[in-house]
Amino acid sequence: MKSNNNGDGSSASSSSNGSCASCRHQRKKCGRNCVLAPHFPASKKADFDLVLKHFGVKNLVRRMKEEPDMEARKNIIRSMVWDAKAREDDPEFGSYGLNQALLKRVEMLETYVMRGTYRWCNDMNLQMHQNNNLRGAEPGGAG
Ligand SMILES: [Zn+2]
Repeated sequence: MKSNNNGDGSSASSSSNGSCASCRHQRKKCGRNCVLAPHFPASKKADFDLVLKHFGVKNLVRRMKEEPDMEARKNIIRSMVWDAKAREDDPEFGSYGLNQALLKRVEMLETYVMRGTYRWCNDMNLQMHQNNNLRGAEPGGAG
């Protein structure tokens, strides 16, 4: 009996061999102490390649070793991947450009809200003014 689950003769182990994307890139064995293995399994090669391109493996490993907390490490990786993607999309401004675009959008929305509020206040003032005029026109209303 064959133990191959693919059914097409290819072996799944030949494509992954358990090494993380970083160790595969460095052509070294991925050991139990590999700090990047939990964050960059072979399936996350594209993310790893981006971070590698924009930050380098040394910086990545250094940041991981500086931070003992696993949850914080995950956030650092998320942030670095996000930054790397932003730099890839916009080599000049990177994540700063994204930040500026978002700030502009917030300002625009605030302006819309302020205009809407201003218009609403004007409408309310007009209604109150009209109501007062109507009251004033009622017989006996203007004493
Ligand atoms: Zn590794």
